[in-house]
This record gives sequence, C-alpha cells and structure tokens, in this order.
Amino acid sequence: MRVSLAFSAALLLAAAVLVGRPDNAVAQDRSNKFTIVIHGGAGTISEAMPESAKAQYYSSLKKALAIGRDVLASGGTSMQAVEKVLRYFETDPKFNAGIGAVYTSARTHELDAAIMNGATLQCGAVAGVEHIAHPITLARLVMEKTPHILLAYQGADDFGGKMGLKWVPNSYFDTPERKSELEKWMKKIKEHDHGTVGCVCLDEYGNLAAGTSTGGLTGKMPGRIGDSPLVGDGTYANNQTCAVSGTGIGEQYMRYAVGFNINALMAYKGMTLKEAVHYIIHDVLKPGDGGVIAVDRKGDYAMDFNTTGMFRGVANSSGLFEVKIWKDK
Ligand code: ASP
Repeated sequence: MRVSLAFSAALLLAAAVLVGRPDNAVAQDRSNKFTIVIHGGAGTISEAMPESAKAQYYSSLKKALAIGRDVLASGGTSMQAVEKVLRYFETDPKFNAGIGAVYTSARTHELDAAIMNGATLQCGAVAGVEHIAHPITLARLVMEKTPHILLAYQGADDFGGKMGLKWVPNSYFDTPERKSELEKWMKKIKEHDHGTVGCVCLDEYGNLAAGTSTGGLTGKMPGRIGDSPLVGDGTYANNQTCAVSGTGIGEQYMRYAVGFNINALMAYKGMTLKEAVHYIIHDVLKPGDGGVIAVDRKGDYAMDFNTTGMFRGVANSSGLFEVKIWKDK
C-alpha cells in the first residue's frame, strides 16, 4: 500500500512536471535568475524638463520596476510580472496607457494592449478598448479564455464586461495634460507624444514574456490600431530567442515587423540580442521612430532608441536596479 501510494505520488509529480514544462522551455543560466526591463515610452523628451517633473518620472519608473522585480524575486512568473507592472502604469496618469491615455481626433480614448508568453507562444491582445480600466488584463483573458488572439472595439469591451473586469466611462482615461496635447495637435503643433508602456521579463523558470499597453498616438483617427497589440510588431516573446516591447511610431513598427524581426535576426542569423536590437533600431528604422526594450533567455537585455529619450529601467536578481530617461553621456 505504502509503495503504491509513493508510486502514485511520484507519477503525479512527474505528470505535473511534464504538464508544467512548456514545449518551448529552454535550459536556463542559473547564475542570473531573473531579469526585468520596462519602458514608459520613447520620443522627444526635453532635458530642459523641470527637476520636479524629472523626479516624478524617475519615481514612477522605480515604482513600476520594483513591482515587477518583487514578483520575480518571490518566484512569480514572467507573465505575472508583466501584467502587474503594466496594470500599475495603466493607473499612473504620466503614461499613455489607461488613465492618461492620449486622445483621438474625436476627443475619445481607444486603448490597445498585448501580452505574450514566450514559453508557449500563447498571446492575447485588444485594440480600440473604450471602457475597460486595465486593457493588459483584458489581453491576458483573451489569451486564456478565448480561441482568439486579438479582440477589438465593442467585442473587446463586452468580453471584458462578461469577465467581470472594471468597466469605466471613456472619460475615466481623461487628463488635462493629454487634452492640451490634443489642442496643440489640432493647431498642427505636432510632436511624437511618449508614454506607451512595456515590460519584458525572464523568470527563474527560464521563461520569457512581453507586454505593451498604450493609448496610441495623439490625434489618431478613430479606428486606427497601432503596433502595440500586434504580435510580431510592437510585442513579441519566444523562449528560443527573446522578448520585445516597442514604443514609437506604430506604423513604422508594423511596416518592419520589429518584434518578430529582432527574434528572426537572432534565430536565423545568430545575432546576439544587442546586435539584433541595434540593427533594427539604427539600420532599419529611421531616426525619431522610437525604441525597444528586450531580454533574452540568458538574461542579457537591451534598451535602445533613436529618439532623444526613452523612459526605461532594468533590474535583475544580481542586484542591478536602474532607471534612465536620456542617452548615456
Ligand atoms: N507605438 C504606439 C502606437 O503607435 C505609440 C507609442 O509607442 O508611443 O500606437
């Protein structure tokens, strides 16, 4: 009896390990248990910004990074860390996701988000969301609870309502700062607004994940969908190569399939993560288009951009914890 109980327990354990092991799992370098990289958008970010505003950005970036670092340090998964970090950003009005999302030319907000699991290549995305407070969670639910990858507009909002997610009026996303950016945009004073948020992680199980959440571009036509919710463009993760989240002029990221191509340069050309990211940002995209954050299965990371700045940060299990806005001098 004892023996058969022990035997069944061993069988159950073996089954659990097999089920828990994603097809795409790869051996992991245990010397660096986890790495997390975040961004809060790239664009024309003036270094003449008041010190108090700089301090607020650094403090928000540190808060977001610490949230994700703590999830990973306590044995959480890369998917959990990505979702939790982006949920935080979706409540911080300084960033263009959730509250603080930019306005369309019709003075409304249409939110896009995607999340991808590098272990299984499962992914979920939403576009044109108008009423769900946390689009990143809605994207995860599309991945987990539907046979689809991308839900848009009313279908996405209705699905969120059915799933019991927080439903809000569109004005919930309003902020005076974004309204004045729209007024400037209407007067043809155009600059690329920043503030899209993204997060990529390697967890202690060797699994990569990526997520991106955004309001898109100021003054976009109602119905315009950007790169962020498009798997392979603004968001991509594959344990065999890397996890990527982009930020910038979405049409460019779509044209050059930025996320997938960084992965492809590593997979097909044997480039390192930094080489692949550098090539896409500086040789394929144009100056001013944007930036990306990326991490690979060894925990190597990249935070590269061709704009004046990118809100960003990186932390790992070896104690690295830093946030930056402008280029290293
Ligand atoms: N890539 C986003 C979009 O085009 C915007 C951004 O990252 O700032 O929707």
